[in-house]
Amino acid sequence: MDRQTEYVLRSMEERDIRFVRLWFTDVLGVLKSVAIAPAEVEGAISEGVGFDGSAIEGFARVFESDMVAHPDPSTFQVLPWRQLERGTARMFCDISLPDGSPSFADPRYVLKRALQKAANLGFTFYIHPEIEFFLLKQLNPPVPLDDGGYFDHTTLGDGTDFRRDAITMLEKMGISVEFSHHEAAPGQHEIDLRYADALTMADNIMTFRVVIREVAVSQGIHATFMPKPFSQHAGSGMHTHMSLFEGDTNAFYDGADEYRLSKTARHFIAGLLRHAPEITAVTNQWVNSYKRLSGASEAPTYACWGRANRSALIRVPQFAPGKSSSARIEYRAPDAAVNPYLAYALMLNAGLAGIEGEYELQEETEDEVWRLSARERRALGIQSLPRSLDDALNIMENSELAAETLGEHVFEYFMRNKREEFEVYRQQVTPWELERHIAVL
Ligand code: GLN
Ligand code: MG
Ligand code: MG
Ligand code: MG
Repeated sequence: MDRQTEYVLRSMEERDIRFVRLWFTDVLGVLKSVAIAPAEVEGAISEGVGFDGSAIEGFARVFESDMVAHPDPSTFQVLPWRQLERGTARMFCDISLPDGSPSFADPRYVLKRALQKAANLGFTFYIHPEIEFFLLKQLNPPVPLDDGGYFDHTTLGDGTDFRRDAITMLEKMGISVEFSHHEAAPGQHEIDLRYADALTMADNIMTFRVVIREVAVSQGIHATFMPKPFSQHAGSGMHTHMSLFEGDTNAFYDGADEYRLSKTARHFIAGLLRHAPEITAVTNQWVNSYKRLSGASEAPTYACWGRANRSALIRVPQFAPGKSSSARIEYRAPDAAVNPYLAYALMLNAGLAGIEGEYELQEETEDEVWRLSARERRALGIQSLPRSLDDALNIMENSELAAETLGEHVFEYFMRNKREEFEVYRQQVTPWELERHIAVL
């Protein structure tokens, strides 16, 4: 038995764990869970646990529906919102086919494959996300919990309390929080996680969404990661800070450069800018995501970059001189309802394509790009981000980068599922249309 398995078994004994939940994620980024008894855990780690994948979004066609979940013992954590006696723990799983080959439907595997490619080039990929979400008194129609604004110190019981409880719970699960504050819209909050390697962070995001919902339920309120629940307020983004390290050295840092950005960083940014339209269907995967990316409230619409420019897709945050480990770039498209595994894989490969192809970085955009005319933007080489899920899918359909990164199975399943979502949406008659037209047309 290896040391990690031993650690899992010992912790279960010491902490009276009676249920172990095996967690994995479907293609759309929804968390799945199956509980096993303590006696099954050792066998599950060494051999895996079989399940029927056919009922899970994106996992299997019916004729190959047997799947095996292999818990990753390094992800063992006790769930702090369950009772302490006869407690519950969880582990994330890798999914394989019965013959032992990795399942091509497993988003965690898609990310691992991309990370392996980075590793072959000598890079480790680090992520620090800023996660925004709404707290609501009522779900439908949504009623915000408070009427605070950006950085407001709302009264106790209106979210401040919520954040304290949520952060305590996250830290109990080994997830460090760096900042938290009220966001611009009523009921909107942000929690920023301390950076970690991309796989750990993708797991952390899945855990984060569960923790936030659990804490909300325990306080009799609701939490939502829907990208744009209110027409009149800002949406919920998940700005993603990224860096590549070579060993202990930040490959994005160059102290001699005017922006303290290395060539590697510039190529990486150029890669993201060039491929951004192709990967937006994944970083912004819902019909509703495009209501957020509609040109207001600091959500990006154009593929440009800048240092202070908050309308840009990519921002290069400033950091204290000499603090080379802080050199990073912030990709502002992803929203709070993203599948982090697939998005990180695509963002990484877009950046690596820029490094490998030595793409040249366009000029920094100082102005608010929204004020430029379409012609001026074209002259600067600034592409538009897709304006709808339909638009995004049409672009992704022709993307070699997306097809290669996701693999055939995930790519095709994703396209099919999302085309369907858009078709259903297209047939909806909305309250907006009724209000505008019913009396006058
Ligand atoms: N809520 C904004 C978005 O959707 C971000 C606001 C901010 O953090 N500056 O991206
Ligand atoms: Mg922030
Ligand atoms: Mg924010
Ligand atoms: Mg930000």
